[in-house]
Amino acid sequence: MPTVTDVPQKARKLVTAIPGPKSQALSERHHQYVSAGVGAYMPIFAESASGSTITDVDGNRFIDLAAGIAVTGVGNAAPEVVKAVQHAVAKLTHTNFATTPYESYIKVCEKLAEHTPGDFPKKSVLLNSGAEAVENAVKIARKYTGRSAVIVMENAFHGRTNLTMAMTTKASPYKQGFGAFAPDIYPVPYSYPLRDTFGEDGVAAAKASIEKIELLVGHDNVAAIIAEPLQGEGGFIVPAEGFLKTLSEWAHEHDVLYISDEIQSGFCRTGEWFASDHFGVIPDLITTAKALGGGMPISAVTGRAEIMDSVQPGGIGGTYGGNPVSCAAALAAVSLMEDKDLSARAEHIGSVVNASLKTLTSLDTVAQIRGLGAMQAIEFVKPGSMEPNKPLVSAIVAEAMKAGLIMLTCGIYGNVIRLLPPLVISDEELNEALDVLKAIIIEVSAR
Ligand SMILES: *Cc1c(COP(=O)(O)O)cnc(C)c1O
Repeated sequence: MPTVTDVPQKARKLVTAIPGPKSQALSERHHQYVSAGVGAYMPIFAESASGSTITDVDGNRFIDLAAGIAVTGVGNAAPEVVKAVQHAVAKLTHTNFATTPYESYIKVCEKLAEHTPGDFPKKSVLLNSGAEAVENAVKIARKYTGRSAVIVMENAFHGRTNLTMAMTTKASPYKQGFGAFAPDIYPVPYSYPLRDTFGEDGVAAAKASIEKIELLVGHDNVAAIIAEPLQGEGGFIVPAEGFLKTLSEWAHEHDVLYISDEIQSGFCRTGEWFASDHFGVIPDLITTAKALGGGMPISAVTGRAEIMDSVQPGGIGGTYGGNPVSCAAALAAVSLMEDKDLSARAEHIGSVVNASLKTLTSLDTVAQIRGLGAMQAIEFVKPGSMEPNKPLVSAIVAEAMKAGLIMLTCGIYGNVIRLLPPLVISDEELNEALDVLKAIIIEVSAR
């Protein structure tokens, strides 16, 4: 078996020990001036980036398998996005859309209507962050239905604001010590085929969750049910076939809105424009952010026109939401997704990852390799058991960093490595990264 050092450095270029001296010096200032509450996963300070590589302040070049948490799908510093941003900022930096509107905001809403699931009139509101989009989706659902309860999924992540913390079901680090939380939020089990008792029977898993909703809340009180179509922070959990469809049909039957949180899975990441498309689910409302802006902050709630119009003017929005510079970036990013067919590219990335990593399933530390398109993950366990193996994942990521890979973990138990490369990554770059990662996983698993 080849070791890490046998993999030639082509896309990667390592010129110092990792982290290098300049990164180490910045780390000291970081710890002096930046809140410890801000996560610090890899002490490598970025200087510049291009496509799917990031160069640090010491001149080391890394292959990016994180894309800034699924944001730079079109590549980091994509020339088309850079040009659009430079042009927009010089022409119209900011007006506030409600004060003096501009065309680019409308164009982004047109693109959202075009690409999100569902063949009916749709409208959008543009915001800044993912959490803000989720908060607004809940406000809109409550206003439209006149009901207050919101059903969320176990293992869900929806953000760090007060309402979205209540909707996130992982206590540490997201909720620890931050209560009291917003009321009227009820979690029910999500389908987790590897670990739940229903396995691949998504319909049975959904029926159990529906029974819990009826017992716990009663459908007449439920404004909305919100689910990630493929859970992100929760561990890249792909629900069993039939789970989401059954939930959404139940919602429809009882005038409960079905909201799909596609903040991480949207915009070509999973091999379709939206992950909901894989499951034949048509949400009433959909939240997007991350990849939408090609790296600039922008988010949206998009949904059926009559639902989006149920809110009184001024009830949703904000000072910066849909800022002209972010809108220009989003339009450039969406054009790249269309022109380069990045959905097909994501599908291809998924097949390359699977072909390369499938031999790992013979390791007794690897429970499962799963995902959709360019959203793939490996779940690790203690040998001979199903017990989550977080220490192993931490060790793998630390070694991967030293070997020139930027990567992220996830999972309700912190025992999952997730791969979220920019969708423009070349096969050569991807295979170099996978060869390195494979060698590390085999080596660290044998320790
Ligand atoms: C990242 C994420 C959010 C929160 O987005 P922020 O921009 O960090 O507020 C919400 N939902 C999902 C599914 C996410 O992945």
